[in-house]
Amino acid sequence: MKVVLQNLTKIFPSRNKKSNEEVVAVNDFTFEIPDGKLIGLLGPSGCGKSTTLYMICGLQKPTSGRIFFGDDDVTDLAPENRGVGLVFQNYALYPHMTVKQNILFPLQNLRGADKPTKEEMLERAYSAAQLVQIDELMDRKPSELSGGQQQRVAIARALVKMPRVLLLDEPLSNLDARLRLQTREEIRRIQRETQITTVFVTHDQEEAMSISDMIVVMKSGVVQQIGAPQEVYDDPKNLFVAKFLGTPPINVFEGRVFEGILYIGEERILSVPGADDGEVYVGIRPEGFILDDGGPLHCKLSSVEVMGRDVSVVSTNPFAVSPVIRSIINADNKVNTESETVSYSLKRHKVFIFDRETEERVYFEV
Ligand code: ATP
Repeated sequence: MKVVLQNLTKIFPSRNKKSNEEVVAVNDFTFEIPDGKLIGLLGPSGCGKSTTLYMICGLQKPTSGRIFFGDDDVTDLAPENRGVGLVFQNYALYPHMTVKQNILFPLQNLRGADKPTKEEMLERAYSAAQLVQIDELMDRKPSELSGGQQQRVAIARALVKMPRVLLLDEPLSNLDARLRLQTREEIRRIQRETQITTVFVTHDQEEAMSISDMIVVMKSGVVQQIGAPQEVYDDPKNLFVAKFLGTPPINVFEGRVFEGILYIGEERILSVPGADDGEVYVGIRPEGFILDDGGPLHCKLSSVEVMGRDVSVVSTNPFAVSPVIRSIINADNKVNTESETVSYSLKRHKVFIFDRETEERVYFEV
């Protein structure tokens, strides 16, 4: 089922009677989510991702704009009539019910012609439980399950209604690091198997990048960029997106373009044909540095952290915006830890420049 968001806007009125400052939680969001894809809605706290999700499921009414599931305009439909499955961060299971009763609950609540027979209900509950691999725990109470298992029950409960669209709001936040990894793989597998169009909200860029077909990066209610995760990582449209994606994060310097040459301080870093002269921010991905004694960028070496296959070289530079610069270098390249400075040449396609004022990308011929 494709989902179309058309000029979706949500404005919350001011809570403070004295000031009239409204909150534009989502500002003119237009996007067609292709059928059967998993979309990661991504951004810092308060950027409007949950509000977007709640508008898709019907818990929030848009101030303006429309929402379509396929060709159906669902904007004015109540949540229960939209055919959505919703999973929250806190699993919100009924503690006094068994796993089986929890999963059956949405079906038992159906009315009229939609209500399946008892046998159909059980069959659907078991197949949802099998899908999330908790079919052996059906008689337990939620308190007898781990966090990961509880979240699977919540997912099964959302799937049992055979939703047209599955909506997941930070579903992994309450899980420990290892379970998060495992459960996110599970979500990916379940989504692939069911082919249900899914929207996944998270503030964790790594999580979104690893499981999404496409990511939507939001800031202050405004969509910044939409694309396949690798595409957005490799080709960020502005400084915000470049900084938001990637661990370790991109290294940012103040720089300047003059006559097709990029400078950081007085150092001529790179030729950037096609870029206009002006003050810029220079973003260099950690994997964009090459150790090179004759390289143009000189930094003060702070430490070398061994990570196994790679090493992370920590250094400083007076023109860096962040306190330290972190490069990732293959461990086969020996770093002279005795030296006070470290010199780099750069991989052109890992260097992005941004207008200092607008923070929009300044393109050059790579
Ligand atoms: P988080 O990751 O912290 O949940 P988010 O990206 O999901 O953040 P939203 O919850 O969508 O952000 O909130 C977007 C903006 O709208 C925030 O500034 C928030 O304070 C505001 N907001 C959300 N709900 C309401 C409400 N019911 N009334 C007024 N303002 C609201």
